[in-house]
Amino acid sequence: MKLYRKGEKGEAVCEECAKLVSTTFDYRDVPFEDGLGTVKGILAAVCDDCDRVVATPPQSTPAIRRAREVATRPVEISVPAPYVEILDLALYRINARATAEHRKVLLTYFANKVAGDPDPKAVVQGLVTRSKAFSASLGRVPRRRLSFKVTPRSHALISSLADAASASRTDLLSGLIMQIENDLVRPDKPKGMAEVEAAMAAAYA
Ligand SMILES: [Zn+2]
Repeated sequence: MKLYRKGEKGEAVCEECAKLVSTTFDYRDVPFEDGLGTVKGILAAVCDDCDRVVATPPQSTPAIRRAREVATRPVEISVPAPYVEILDLALYRINARATAEHRKVLLTYFANKVAGDPDPKAVVQGLVTRSKAFSASLGRVPRRRLSFKVTPRSHALISSLADAASASRTDLLSGLIMQIENDLVRPDKPKGMAEVEAAMAAAYA
């Protein structure tokens, strides 16, 4: 694999100039493709005509990946208060010192678990049905806001699970909370606690 160096010349198609251009490698701050965030100071091929970054060499890929992992995406939903109570009670059973920050860890852990099922769509649809029945049984209760920031990878996972089952993100996360109730809150002895604890510990190591 070739290691490129600052000042080296190359050729690439520049979208801005709409043609093949000569490029010079230089260290630049490069925005992510979706524009949400930047990776700072990586080697990139810069268009000699318009001075824009047109490509990044393989040696910059690990730095881009790491920066993407750190970048966060907001998730914000409003649910009947009992959903938040279930989530917090499950966290309390895992670790009495768990904070609101841990909510997303538990939710993304369960999202990954569902994604690992042979038929995630059916699982999500089942959970959404359960959560709709649960919501209908609650009567008039206050609504609470659940808001947190997740990595782009978790964000994409949540969106793809919801899309696969034609559910909204709110429905998906409400459904996951139903599963959390089933596994961690309702049983006298919570199910799969060792794995949950390990996931939580890893997330905050
Ligand atoms: Zn150009």
